[in-house]
Amino acid sequence: MNFLSKKARGILPYTAGEQLRDRTYVKLNTNENPYPPSPRVMEALSRIEGEALRRYPRPDAGMLRAAIAEREGVAPENVFCGNGSDEVLALSFPAFFDGDGAGVCFADITYSFYEVFAAFFGIPTTIVPLNAQFALDLPAMRAADCRGYYIANPNAPTGIGVGRDVMEAFIASVPEKLVVADEAYMDFFGESLVPLTKKYGNLLVVKTFSKSYALAGMRCGYAVGAPALIEGLFRMKDCFNSYPVDAVAEAVCVAALSDAEYHANTVALVVSERERVRGELLKMGFIVPESRANFLFAGRAGKSGKEIYTKLKEAGVLVRFWDKPVLRDFCRITVGTRAENDVLIDQLHKILS
Ligand SMILES: *Cc1c(COP(=O)(O)O)cnc(C)c1O
Repeated sequence: MNFLSKKARGILPYTAGEQLRDRTYVKLNTNENPYPPSPRVMEALSRIEGEALRRYPRPDAGMLRAAIAEREGVAPENVFCGNGSDEVLALSFPAFFDGDGAGVCFADITYSFYEVFAAFFGIPTTIVPLNAQFALDLPAMRAADCRGYYIANPNAPTGIGVGRDVMEAFIASVPEKLVVADEAYMDFFGESLVPLTKKYGNLLVVKTFSKSYALAGMRCGYAVGAPALIEGLFRMKDCFNSYPVDAVAEAVCVAALSDAEYHANTVALVVSERERVRGELLKMGFIVPESRANFLFAGRAGKSGKEIYTKLKEAGVLVRFWDKPVLRDFCRITVGTRAENDVLIDQLHKILS
């Protein structure tokens, strides 16, 4: 007997980056922060009491919601928290889109989870190719027959960012369509659309603690938008899981938010290393679009992405590779610590010589 539903049999799930434990790798493949979370996070963890674990957590993650609202300059009614921003994104599909009529639009090269979610929830998609410079083709997206957009900004895995003014003009030009801006990497760019959520009811911004806050293991993300949008996410959450943010995650993320200085310092370190590594890769003859994220998208004529990925892996350096059109000529390399990046650069020199 095959007990799987037709849906389970037919679906092609998202493939996450490798989390290999067979040896010690310089791990530059899943865009984790190379620095630890703020010391305040470890203090908050040590203060967790049994009582907080015995009880169910707040169903709306209220304490964290308030802290995010304060940090983002919005009201708590403008904030929704979930178990990683992947969950927030997942809930947004059934909250805002239907299986009939026009569906969602996104770029052909972007976060591949959007396609998985659309398929899972049976929502039609319009996929718009990137332009020749690997940038979003916003005019073509504007013209698409759809009810909304998923835009990773900076985009993944290219790292290319779209400035706030250009995004605002786009959002203003599609008032009848919902724009979901996935800002997983925005802290490395600094052009967040959160302030625009007060002005545009068709904008939902999704952010995460996984990347710039170095809390990928904690699983916490959030959305900021008009109360009507946040209400839609709550309706979907309460159909799946009443308590997606656990008591530990709530306390830890509040502590992380309280240490703005530590956050700004680690972001600045990653950004300065990103620029240094990009410079080295360019010198080695790689094509590397200017990145606004914590990773670089690098390819080199005469060497396939697979060859670079495989040889780096043999040398103990993990990067991300996709065997798909366009992507197969590139690898996505997460920016590590200075020492990790030096190992990467050294190994690349060996591979190329
Ligand atoms: C990493 C990432 C996320 C989600 O991360 P979570 O760990 O689920 O918060 C969302 N979007 C993009 C583009 C990402 O790269």
